[in-house]
Amino acid sequence: MHVLFVHDLVGNKAADSQAFAGKDKVTYADLQAYVSKYRDYFYATGIRTGDNVGLFSRNSVEFIYSYMAIVSLGAVVVPINFQLTAREVAFIVKDANMSRLVTMEYLPLERELEQQRYQQEVSQLVIADFSGMINQKTFPAAPALKTDFDENQPCAIIYTSGTTGTPKGAVLTHKNLISNARAFREVMPVTAEDNVLCVLPMYHCFSWTCAVLNSLLCGAAITILEAFAPKETLAAIKDYKVTVIYGVPPMYNFLARVGSREDLAGIKYCVSGGASLPEKVAQQFAEKYGQKIIEGYGLSEASPVVTLNPPQKPKYCSIGKALPGLEVKVIDAHGQVVPPGIVGQIAVRGPSVMKGYFNLPADSSNALKDGWLYTGDLAYQDAEGYFFVVDRLKDLIISNGENIYPREIEELLYAYPGILEASVIGVPDELRGQVARAYIVLAAGQKFDKKKVREYLQANLASYKIPRDYCIVDALPKNQTGKILKRVLREQACSS
Ligand code: AMP
Repeated sequence: MHVLFVHDLVGNKAADSQAFAGKDKVTYADLQAYVSKYRDYFYATGIRTGDNVGLFSRNSVEFIYSYMAIVSLGAVVVPINFQLTAREVAFIVKDANMSRLVTMEYLPLERELEQQRYQQEVSQLVIADFSGMINQKTFPAAPALKTDFDENQPCAIIYTSGTTGTPKGAVLTHKNLISNARAFREVMPVTAEDNVLCVLPMYHCFSWTCAVLNSLLCGAAITILEAFAPKETLAAIKDYKVTVIYGVPPMYNFLARVGSREDLAGIKYCVSGGASLPEKVAQQFAEKYGQKIIEGYGLSEASPVVTLNPPQKPKYCSIGKALPGLEVKVIDAHGQVVPPGIVGQIAVRGPSVMKGYFNLPADSSNALKDGWLYTGDLAYQDAEGYFFVVDRLKDLIISNGENIYPREIEELLYAYPGILEASVIGVPDELRGQVARAYIVLAAGQKFDKKKVREYLQANLASYKIPRDYCIVDALPKNQTGKILKRVLREQACSS
């Protein structure tokens, strides 16, 4: 475990002597010194302005040093999900036209890339392995970044999490990321007194912008955990006196089943994003800990936060209101704004919207029109300006010409006793075009009674929405940020 205990990103506040006490603690002044050291090292390995540089690392303080050092050389960082296989890493290396890969996991990755014969994709790649050695050596100082550095230069290329097919690299500028962190701060009043939990993977934009960048802007401390495990996470929250949690719905679902009220007694805010938070999970969590989860919504292409609930007035099941500085609208198939209460696609415009997808002009112009980013998410707005996500456009099931929003069925399944997780997809049907199929994970020791579940759904839903099949599975396919991969379920359904 690494703990970043920081008070001032630019080092102009006095270093807190307490902060040096533990061996895993670093101050803002340390952070600045390490970034400078990493910068010199990376420059010595040949990283230059404009290079696309991969960053393949678990959550660690070194991830932050490396990210900051790469971008302060004017290079562009490409954070890579460290769970990807060699084939997937090789795709990103090639797609992003990467010249360098910074990693702490050099040997296993390189061996895997070699064994699986991806030499062609990675032949130009220089892997800068910094584990251990960087602290023992000194390097000539890298030249200072030009003071007229343009904030509209690319800062990061984020490969979107792949819930929708082949990953695409969203190009984000310095302005995109910083404006999003600043706007987020206006709604979420994190202060220098706070200690923010960073357990979501830093390669994901939600974790980077909210848990890291925003915390640094606020002068807060960050407690970094490598991965989420319910009991260990609760222990760290208590031991390190964490006050702000950023999580994804499955994380809150697990936490709602362990721990007790005292475990989160010191918490000011619990924020959820990345996927829809089932109402049942929010309720169970509130009952257990007396904490309301504040839900937000975003996507990598918007750096990522688009809407957030005001902490003083959050609404259950809502993704909140537009972040300051962003325009958010709900539109129909012709691009016309729909009235409150009517479902349409969310479109967003503003300073945190990406430049486009790397080297994909057609995809970029599909996603961006007149500065508006078409998110592919369906939602409606209420009279008070709160947005409610209904589903993803791509997950919509059309059965006999009727729209079925899987989320509506999933919410009911989550609320059914003994069901731990649920996901609903559309499967082909000769007569109706598509019908709904439910994938269900049961809580330990529970039995599934299909007849009873059907009756329960029939009492709550129109008959065309009732899933025809129910598949009981041990686990649902998820990505590292806890998003259920419906694409994988659909692929499995088609091949079965
Ligand atoms: P990513 O770019 O990996 O962050 O994925 C973005 C996608 O996650 C969005 O387009 C939404 O489909 C989904 N998403 C994020 N936050 C929420 C939320 N609060 N409710 C529903 N879906 C969400």
